[in-house]
Amino acid sequence: QPPRQPGEVHTTCPYCGVGCGVLARMDKDNRVHVRGDPEHPANFGRLCSKGAALGETTGLNGRLLHPRVHGQRTDWDTALATVADGLNRVIRRDGPEAVGFYVSGQLLTEDYYVANKLMKGYIGSANIDTNSRLCMASSVAGHIRAFGEDLVPGCYEDLERADLVVLTGSNLAWCHPVLYQRLEAARARRPGMRVVVIDPRETETAAQADLHLPLRPGSDVALWNGLFRRLVETDQIHRDIRPETEAADSNLKRILHEAGDADAVASACDLNPRALHLFYDWFAGTERTVSVYSQGVNQSSQGTDKVNAIINVHILTGRLGRPGCGPFSVTGQPNAMGGREVGGLSNQLAAHMGFSQGDRIRVQRYWDSPRIARQPGMKAVELFRAAAQGRVKALWIMATNPVVSLPDADLVKRALARCELVVVSDCIANTDTTGYAHVLMPAAAWGEKSGTVTNSERCISRQRAFRTPAGEARPDWWIISQVARLMGFDRGFAYGSPREIFDEHARLTAVHNPGPGMGGRTLHLGALAGMNAKQWDTLQPVQWPCPGPGLDTAGPGRGTQRLATNGGLPTEDGHPRLHPVCAETPGNTPDARFPLVLNTGRTRDHWHTLTRTGLSVSLSTHQPEPRCDLHPEDATRFGLADGHLVRVRSAWGSVLLRARYQTGQRRGELFVPMHWNDCYAAQARIGAVANPITDPISGQPELKHTPVAVEAV
Ligand code: SF4
Repeated sequence: QPPRQPGEVHTTCPYCGVGCGVLARMDKDNRVHVRGDPEHPANFGRLCSKGAALGETTGLNGRLLHPRVHGQRTDWDTALATVADGLNRVIRRDGPEAVGFYVSGQLLTEDYYVANKLMKGYIGSANIDTNSRLCMASSVAGHIRAFGEDLVPGCYEDLERADLVVLTGSNLAWCHPVLYQRLEAARARRPGMRVVVIDPRETETAAQADLHLPLRPGSDVALWNGLFRRLVETDQIHRDIRPETEAADSNLKRILHEAGDADAVASACDLNPRALHLFYDWFAGTERTVSVYSQGVNQSSQGTDKVNAIINVHILTGRLGRPGCGPFSVTGQPNAMGGREVGGLSNQLAAHMGFSQGDRIRVQRYWDSPRIARQPGMKAVELFRAAAQGRVKALWIMATNPVVSLPDADLVKRALARCELVVVSDCIANTDTTGYAHVLMPAAAWGEKSGTVTNSERCISRQRAFRTPAGEARPDWWIISQVARLMGFDRGFAYGSPREIFDEHARLTAVHNPGPGMGGRTLHLGALAGMNAKQWDTLQPVQWPCPGPGLDTAGPGRGTQRLATNGGLPTEDGHPRLHPVCAETPGNTPDARFPLVLNTGRTRDHWHTLTRTGLSVSLSTHQPEPRCDLHPEDATRFGLADGHLVRVRSAWGSVLLRARYQTGQRRGELFVPMHWNDCYAAQARIGAVANPITDPISGQPELKHTPVAVEAV
């Protein structure tokens, strides 16, 4: 690595949940230069194509530079007062439940904290949800059922130390590239290590695996329950499973009752029986096993059950909490975890607390707030549905583009058109969503704002500013605080810096929190409370929990690498819980009208709805236009030619795409990237087609399984 350059700051990549450290600087011509931070424990100097191109996406091109009200440029005072007055008017007339916030895993933890505090503690409604609902909500729900709290027990190093890595519903090579690079480097060092990919598609990750199981979409629970049965039959039950307790014994028997034998599972999953037996043999015979899961598991009407089916086999075999072992959820966004920590999901209050009377009193006292939300609020899909029905009248959308990304996205358009007040704070001027805003507020972008993010291994890292905000852009926490003060909540929002907000959050995690074994919570940042300016400026990446002592004494070190080591979880007995689940078919299945199944996902070089990566020429050359991958036999069946335009229709909408033959597609299934929006390619918002049915527990929509029809145009 070259020595550190003058002016370089340590910051964190704003894209995926790997959370790579970046060294960034501006040169005298205002060009931004980035390289991987060799000291950051997530990436040790590596960057993927998106991270390496960050400098190409940070200019003024497309930026929202000034506040606007009804399309007209205005000053901050007018914009903030318009928002505050509008929210107060709706609350006075229709009550707090008529207001909704839709926030984002792109926000920093401090932004998230302030938005959540305003909504749940001052407005008094929990109708604040985040686009993490589309990403990780099923993992959150599964973690709470198994571990008593939303926690990831392992760390990235476990993938390197495992002898078997199972990637299920994860195209890691494209979606978490630097973590995949670490895995490949470990494979090169230890050729005996095996990688199994469970994915309906032959992705780039699957193509490089030792074994690929192209299962029938939605059949994951059958596959994992079958493995559970096989492990019991071959006496792989770990001593800590404690079948002597009535509940554990009952759960174990219920899972066995649901599980088929391997041949029945192969049939249910449409898999080659020999390949399935081989996977079961490898799993049964490999002590150090990590099972990585991501959106292919989460984005399902049975996502929470799928997560628990995976975790169950690790609990059964005792493979968690130790080096090279564990279920491992990789988050999609740079700060999906940080948002979950401060209560960004409508069903959590703050600091991993819920809506029990004790938690509500604890948080309200700490905030000294006039009220507190009484119950969980509406989840994302439900929130926009309520707006379309006129029950939610004011929406504030921060750093996200739901007109592209939510399922049934044309309903989102109708919802925004019906709202009396739509506020959008964003760093980009023209997105599919900003067009519906009555008030637009320019937010500071990556490189212009400071705070923290939490990555997939619970590692809190600093994002640091290295340039002044463009135009009149301001940090999101500042915008929210100003609106709160104008709404009459002056005392709770007199923040002067993100450090003050982080400090308040860190202290809240420690309030009445003696830790998991004592009836408390795992999320504990006590050691990070009370940082002075210098300690904040120099804060190194640290994995929570990091309960005291504070920085003034011993310092937090690197925090806690692994959880669930010898119990220590916030469950009744400190041990993880088996949760019986049974296989079900997806919520909407193909029929004569919509005979194919649509799957959506990421491409290698783009991020979310293209508002940033679309600015980079180098990133846009990888896949310059939206396309529809399909098997050549399906193309013949429907009279479609490779490279020609096709229309994909569902019960909710349609898109226009270019067909691409892919033999790695299962027959009967299409794959379309999630990124394109109407600003980049007309009629290519795949969200308009996507299935809005949700998991009944997590509320996560089924973005991987939409019945569709396809025709030539
Ligand atoms: Fe950024 Fe993710 Fe790439 Fe790392 S792997 S550089 S966090 S996009």
